[in-house]
Amino acid sequence: MAVGRDDVVAWIKVCAEKLAENRDYLTQLDAAIGDADHGANMDRGFKAVLNRLAEFSDKDIGAIFKIVGMTLISTVGGAAGPLYGTFFLQAGSKTAGKMELSLADVSIAFDAALNGVVMRGKAEPGDKTMVDALTPAVDTLKKALADNAPLNIALQQMAGSARQGMEATIPLVARKGRASYLGDRSAGHQDPGATSSYLLLKAAADTWGDC
Ligand code: ADP
Ligand code: MG
Repeated sequence: MAVGRDDVVAWIKVCAEKLAENRDYLTQLDAAIGDADHGANMDRGFKAVLNRLAEFSDKDIGAIFKIVGMTLISTVGGAAGPLYGTFFLQAGSKTAGKMELSLADVSIAFDAALNGVVMRGKAEPGDKTMVDALTPAVDTLKKALADNAPLNIALQQMAGSARQGMEATIPLVARKGRASYLGDRSAGHQDPGATSSYLLLKAAADTWGDC
């Protein structure tokens, strides 16, 4: 029960697919409380990652995550680019040299990734950002690890918590990022970044379900 490097590459490809499929949806969410570019930003970033797939063939998981992070930082732009870039760079530093990941490794990597996002963006849970999807997801993953849950169940639970965290952003008033300029008018809309975070983690749960 482990996630191999080919599974990691498969996850990245599914992320790119899901972000392309949801490009308009993410843009609509960002049109309501931001500047209508989140779908385009994420799609552009992951398409740029796909262009570098050939470089992944001889790399370990940490090196793959580092390429993903660097590519997102240089192509996504906006608030989300540096934040998702940091997410993957931090995941990469915890998985350096590894050719497969246990549930513990995934948990450590995603925990570090979330901490990187928080350090960089200074958002707390409840600020109506991607942190609201990532935090409960990582908490659930850590709990599943402590409970000795099988990898596939742990990942499903993680994705379920990300979904709940994403949906829970709807009533919140944004306190970080562009949506915070709207003040109370940001309430009643789901946060675009929390939604893309859910999509990425759901893609991991789906892609690694048989690992
Ligand atoms: P921009 O806001 O620059 O147009 P995007 O539209 O691509 O960038 O991304 C917006 C998303 O970024 C928001 O929905 C939110 O989830 C996330 N975000 C913005 N600021 C922060 C922050 N300081 N910390 C965490 N996430 C943030
Ligand atoms: Mg935007």
